[in-house]
Amino acid sequence: MRQDSLLSIHHLRTRFHTYEGVLTAVDGIDLEVYRGETLGVVGESGCGKSVTALSILRLLASPPAEIRGKVLFDGENLLQMSLDEIRQIRGNSISMIFQEPMTSLNPVLTVGEQISEAIKLHQGVTREEAWSKAVEMLRIVQVPSPDIRAREYPHKMSGGMRQRAMIAMALSCHPRLLLADEPTTALDVTIQAQIVELMERLKEEIRTSIVLITHNLGLIAEMAKRVAVMYMGKVVEEAPVEDLFLEPLHPYTHGLLGSIPWIGRKMKSGRKQLQEIPGMVPSLLEIPDACRFHPRCSRAMEICRKEEPPLVQKNGRRVLCWLWK
Ligand code: SF4
Repeated sequence: MRQDSLLSIHHLRTRFHTYEGVLTAVDGIDLEVYRGETLGVVGESGCGKSVTALSILRLLASPPAEIRGKVLFDGENLLQMSLDEIRQIRGNSISMIFQEPMTSLNPVLTVGEQISEAIKLHQGVTREEAWSKAVEMLRIVQVPSPDIRAREYPHKMSGGMRQRAMIAMALSCHPRLLLADEPTTALDVTIQAQIVELMERLKEEIRTSIVLITHNLGLIAEMAKRVAVMYMGKVVEEAPVEDLFLEPLHPYTHGLLGSIPWIGRKMKSGRKQLQEIPGMVPSLLEIPDACRFHPRCSRAMEICRKEEPPLVQKNGRRVLCWLWK
């Protein structure tokens, strides 16, 4: 573990006990987030990226969820803290931005009340001080007329404005770590660009580390320094962003990159045309005792169908595939 590691995840495993059986959403992942960096986590829907973020902050009801492993934040294991201790961390040292702000903003409180409540809870300031800090945060995230907007309810705002309000709330206590789960997916392209610029600027100003969870590789390319690719609950590849885009090692990453349009840029493979990854993601209730990507992999070998691939370290990168053994 490097000295500048802020979050260190060891063998995180999250399973759900359902009527149909045990569903393994996150299956023994290891990840590091360094101070001041943005780590991208990418993968298809259901690959376990959002469950990873919710597990870090213990926001999953248990039961049915069962979270195992270690999540060290500044050396302290979040999974072993008492509920009071973890509540102190949430919204204070670690904040989260969700994809759809309406599901996380309270519809019966004004936006200003919600932001100031978070500030009052974690910073022990008076009601008036918390309110003026809330208005200031809305100003920082470029909400026009923030003192008027602070008195409005979430449903009166546009999607982009609500997302800004949620970012204001998430950053109001100057968190050291921000978990941003699809922060721009519900927004149109121009608003997306503004939100990205805003997060970048705030990251510089507040020195927050960001875990950016998304299926949008363009967003990863723009914001992240390193990227982890997840498939069926596993990190199958991890690399600096540029290396991963120029030369993906894992066949799944290759497929993901092949399915997005590129302008004026060729990969080492010389790929030009859009490709698709054949087949469907198998059920998480029936994880094969082999490489879990093998039913969809064009390079699958005999051993891939029989044994789980090893994690191979290669030039500062990690890849879970028999090809590189
Ligand atoms: Fe494909 Fe085999 Fe690598 Fe799995 S281990 S991704 S099946 S080559």
